Amino acid sequence: MIDRGCESLSDRQKFVFDKHVVNKCATRECARCGDDIHWSEMLGAYDNGGLCGWCHHMREKVQEE
Ligand SMILES: [Zn+2]
Repeated sequence: MIDRGCESLSDRQKFVFDKHVVNKCATRECARCGDDIHWSEMLGAYDNGGLCGWCHHMREKVQEE
């Protein structure tokens, strides 16, 4: 019962996040590779210019070299 409760709560949070945050950020796919950005990465993508976690990681790596 507790596990089920958590699961439905996170679905609900995801829905609220989609509805309110994603519409503002409008960063649903990566600007570099075009992959879908997972909703947990979207706030990061909003900060880094619309990149998925992988592309952001790769870009930082390139800048370091
Ligand atoms: Zn990407």
